[in-house]
Amino acid sequence: MAAKRKPGLPALPPVQAGPILHATPLVERWFWHYWQRLGLPESELALLALTQDRREYQRWTGKRLNFMVLGCYCYVQFAGKVSSSMADRASCKPGQTEGRRASAMVPLPGFSEGSLSRPAVMEGASELARHRHCIFIEPDMQPRSIEVTVAHELIHLADRVRGTPRRHRHHGYDSIAADEAAITGYDLEELRRLLHEESARREQLRRARAPLRYIYVCPNCGKEYPRARRYSRPVSCSLCDKAYNPRYRLLLARELL
Ligand SMILES: [Zn+2]
Ligand SMILES: [Zn+2]
Repeated sequence: MAAKRKPGLPALPPVQAGPILHATPLVERWFWHYWQRLGLPESELALLALTQDRREYQRWTGKRLNFMVLGCYCYVQFAGKVSSSMADRASCKPGQTEGRRASAMVPLPGFSEGSLSRPAVMEGASELARHRHCIFIEPDMQPRSIEVTVAHELIHLADRVRGTPRRHRHHGYDSIAADEAAITGYDLEELRRLLHEESARREQLRRARAPLRYIYVCPNCGKEYPRARRYSRPVSCSLCDKAYNPRYRLLLARELL
């Protein structure tokens, strides 16, 4: 699912001569490789910041990453006010949250003008510096997954630079996945397998940190939704309705001790 909306103030990375790459040599290598493969313009390099640290990414973008996210691209734009949209790479979670789309990529609401934490940067900024590209790459993945995640996030960046950002219809099965296969040379099956493996691993890590304690159930179809924490807001069954529907609101059935 999408990164959680948090009232954090974005502290945008400074514009430098080149990109900010807070990354391992492997990530750096694939970054340059796919930057060239995608024919991305050199002029955007100074506006790019990549990190493998979730907290740093959150500082830059003001957005908190869901634990399951393997990679994320965020376009931050200043047009009188700061707005941004995010595209993340993660498996979808079940359950529809009220007021939010189930899409794995959700454009997030813009920041208000007052939330810009570095107005000084903006005052002296040239036309060039009216936006930033922020990328997160999860460090704890197998090397091939690192490679394809770098390619994946740069495809989002390329879309944005060309003015045609895409939403995910289905991770691993949509047009973005097809482009990912074309650019990396991996076939789609292999890409899906990698995504599945990494997601399963993240899920395992998450379970180790927060074991499942609450079993919610759909009053209509009976599907169970195990959870580590209680839902903080009403959630309905995603099988019974793709959008939030109070008729299928999940009920707490039991608590595991
Ligand atoms: Zn994506
Ligand atoms: Zn249901």
